[in-house]
Amino acid sequence: MSDLKQLIEISRYYGDDPAYVIAGGGNTSYKDEQRLWIKASGIPLAGIEKSGFVCLSREKLGKIELASYSEDSVLREEQVKSDMQKAIISPENLRPSVETSLHNLIDFSFVVHTHPTLVNGLMCSNHVKAEVESRFASDALYVEYTDPGFILFKEVQERILAYKEQFGKAPAIIFLQNHGVFVGADSLEEIRALYESIMERIGSGLDVSIPDSEAEVYESEASLAIENHFASRGFISKAVRCALVDHFSDSMEQYQKIAWPFSPDIIVYCKSNYLFIGEHLEAELVQAACEQFEQTHGYYPKVIIEEKGGLIVIEENERSVKNVLEVYLDQMKISVLSENFGGPHFMNPKQIRFIDNWEVEHYRRKIAKKG
Ligand SMILES: [Zn+2]
Repeated sequence: MSDLKQLIEISRYYGDDPAYVIAGGGNTSYKDEQRLWIKASGIPLAGIEKSGFVCLSREKLGKIELASYSEDSVLREEQVKSDMQKAIISPENLRPSVETSLHNLIDFSFVVHTHPTLVNGLMCSNHVKAEVESRFASDALYVEYTDPGFILFKEVQERILAYKEQFGKAPAIIFLQNHGVFVGADSLEEIRALYESIMERIGSGLDVSIPDSEAEVYESEASLAIENHFASRGFISKAVRCALVDHFSDSMEQYQKIAWPFSPDIIVYCKSNYLFIGEHLEAELVQAACEQFEQTHGYYPKVIIEEKGGLIVIEENERSVKNVLEVYLDQMKISVLSENFGGPHFMNPKQIRFIDNWEVEHYRRKIAKKG
């Protein structure tokens, strides 16, 4: 099988598995000495074709590693993006994944980067560092949360060098706090074996089962008020309920465990603020709460939780509604799993602001919406 065919095979394998890939998240690559093929930004791994990959010159990508860029983060990411575009061999109309430089750093032919729910239950927990150390020792490199893009790339580059010096080998597993995992190997068999071992090592000793997440359509005075409020502006909403939603909608205290984003991917789909409304609120008050939210944050709420009620999602089209629902239910699962490791650890306000302002993520959101 050709290398590119293998890349497609492994991409679909993980892309089709909801335990590994949620909505459009994750990316994969294959590299030889001269070239690197990576999934294009905004294209889902599930069912990906050859046309979903961008081929880049590794020599030109190497120049980004050595170049110096602006101190201003917006300007810097703009400059890096432009240099990345110049490294494209084909096709020029697609944008390579924002994590391309990271893939180029990893000393293995195949790299599969995902945000699995189980892995993020650990990555988004308070005891992540100690737990990774005790479960993986020298088999993995752990990197604390760093703003994505060039800064993260530089941090990982340094940490890989330090790891190699310490252990005399390249790290095949790289964990990123509040983000996910990178797995590298020279064959698909090894990639699969590594992922299996990751799942086993994190899953061992876990005693918390996740409440049922099979969402059923739900209707209440609040959900109807929200539907009417947003329908007049051309938005659609979907209200659901399941044991998992009930677990967090039960009280303000429970809601606090899912009230901020765990990872950049959650912000891409659901934004960084969500609305919690009290039990049995009158329609007028529900609509007033939505308006108040919009005035405070500058955008309408995509995610609303009704106390002792359901999860209500608002978006522009059916596809986006599905994505937001999937991603926010995943946020709930991550929160439940994190209880095994000292409880949930969210992104902080400064980290959230960086993503909110990041053009690259706006692009990804736009493409994901178009489908
Ligand atoms: Zn990622």
